[in-house]
Amino acid sequence: MSDNLPACPSCSSEYTYEMNGLMVCPECAHEWMPSEGGAGQAADSGERVIRDSVGNVLSDGDTVTVVKALKVKGSVSGIKAGTKVRNIRLVDGVDGHDIDCRIEGFGAMQLKSSVVKKA
Ligand SMILES: [Zn+2]
Repeated sequence: MSDNLPACPSCSSEYTYEMNGLMVCPECAHEWMPSEGGAGQAADSGERVIRDSVGNVLSDGDTVTVVKALKVKGSVSGIKAGTKVRNIRLVDGVDGHDIDCRIEGFGAMQLKSSVVKKA
């Protein structure tokens, strides 16, 4: 007996069974073709493109300029518009903060690509 059936791609249940060539999950009633079972990330193909405030594509190592004043926790002055940020790193940050960088006088922080412009 081969009992090595794939887990349900919908709810991860292990109590799946095969019926008429289809895999069936008794837990959530999901049915799927065994060949495509588990390949749940197929839709997420290709590189994510991050653009600055005017539409330039950004990449790791770029130098950008902050285009508007930003408040910074613990700082009275904040980051001024026109501040140069060197050697940015693109990240999959929370809440749209997709740039990881160091800013002189502030240290490491994350910015939104919508507030910078490629230098
Ligand atoms: Zn299921």
